[in-house]
Amino acid sequence: MKKKILVTGGAGFIGSHLCKKLLEQNNEVLCLDNYFTGSKMNVLSMLDNPMFELIRHDIVYPYIAEVDEIYNLACPASPIHYQHNPIQTVKISVMGAINMLETAKTTGAKILQASTSEVYGDPKIHPQVESYWGNVNPIGERSCYDEGKRCAETLFMDYHRQCDLKIKIIRIFNTYGPNMHPNDGRVVSNFIVQCLRNEDITIYGDGNQSRSFQYVDDLIEGMVKMMATSDSFIGPVNIGNPNEFTILELAQTVIKLTNSKSKLIFKPLPKDDPQQRRPDISLAKEKLDWSPKIELEEGLKKTIHYFDKLLRNN
Ligand code: NAD
Ligand code: UDP
Repeated sequence: MKKKILVTGGAGFIGSHLCKKLLEQNNEVLCLDNYFTGSKMNVLSMLDNPMFELIRHDIVYPYIAEVDEIYNLACPASPIHYQHNPIQTVKISVMGAINMLETAKTTGAKILQASTSEVYGDPKIHPQVESYWGNVNPIGERSCYDEGKRCAETLFMDYHRQCDLKIKIIRIFNTYGPNMHPNDGRVVSNFIVQCLRNEDITIYGDGNQSRSFQYVDDLIEGMVKMMATSDSFIGPVNIGNPNEFTILELAQTVIKLTNSKSKLIFKPLPKDDPQQRRPDISLAKEKLDWSPKIELEEGLKKTIHYFDKLLRNN
């Protein structure tokens, strides 16, 4: 059945892939964004589709539309961007969540929150299961994002318990792919752009910290499945690829796939940078019949192809 769907942060990296998928499924999509880290270029190919509507709006302020579903993605996700104006990051996470939950309350829409593995902080349990409460510094430089996202989860749960809202919470682990901004600052886009330009590869710390990298198509499939599944399963559920790599291994793989002459240079490790991260995805497998299909080298090749084209045209 055709649905009217609001995607906040729809002009961002993940949001643009989500809008495309929802249109392919024959839905009407309202894409809301203030272009802080997203861009109209990401949704250019959808602009002439009559089922697609682009709205410039900041979710720190209320926005009401009659919709069936809301995906709440609006929030800068890269540490350099969310730390640029940390007070604004908290406002986006907390006031943005309240505004979108109020929209859901008013219209009866089902609402999904794009939460994050950052709610686990620098985890003491490995791999991370949803029942783990995390190890987050509440007063550090990453706190505006981590605590903002944790508070958003709290709000979603309270609106569910207190107002009977239909909610869904997914915890997304490091995701990469086309439509990331070349200056996004996250590790995959940084390494690919540096390699394609034969510039030094910036390793923060000794590079032995690990992450588990998920290709964006896998995430979108998990996200849409989560929204579609029974209202009784609200999450939180981890959506990520459990294959874990050190940052040094990632750098070596990107050098190999780009045939680059780039050399590694070592920079200070940012404060509170988590040492390791890997999702336990048993719950997603059981409840959503979902697991990621695209492994690192395959996903990196697609992403390298995207950036290669982008950099050649600029
Ligand atoms: P992104 O920065 O590319 O996208 C975020 C989008 O939100 C951008 O288009 C930005 O302009 C928009 N936005 C920011 N503030 C806004 C505001 N006040 N009002 C309206 N729009 C606003 O990042 P992304 O990687 O696509 O992340 C999307 C969501 O997924 C975020 O909520 C992020 O926290 C979450 N997430 C992403 C990852 C990942 O690895 N990419 C991991 C965990 C969680
Ligand atoms: N990182 C790095 N070089 C870069 C960018 C990031 O070594 O140019 C490291 C960063 O310190 C972290 C990991 O890569 O340990 C993942 O960083 P990212 O910002 O992509 O995501 P997050 O830290 O939020 O998981």
